[in-house]
Amino acid sequence: MGHLKITAVILLGLIILSGCGEEKKDLQKEKVPQSELIRSEGTDVSALDINGDGKLYQCPMHFQVISDSLETCPLCMMDLVEYTVAEAGVNIQNHYNH
Ligand SMILES: [Zn+2]
Repeated sequence: MGHLKITAVILLGLIILSGCGEEKKDLQKEKVPQSELIRSEGTDVSALDINGDGKLYQCPMHFQVISDSLETCPLCMMDLVEYTVAEAGVNIQNHYNH
């Protein structure tokens, strides 16, 4: 009888522990938003202008966030602002030079 009780306690502990592990993973995901719109240093912004209209959408708060269409910044949830490809290129350089 006693042996069964101990087994049950260990099993319960394992379930609680694994539950906590999953919760931690979810929190990390929310902390660092992963988005293809976040461009890395040295990105060729002219290659991002897929429709070739010479315009790109960029977050005025986060110059590393660039899209070829009007989208929402994954970092601050603001709508992106239209820039020329040249402006977007200067902006992202300024961002990474700071
Ligand atoms: Zn932003």
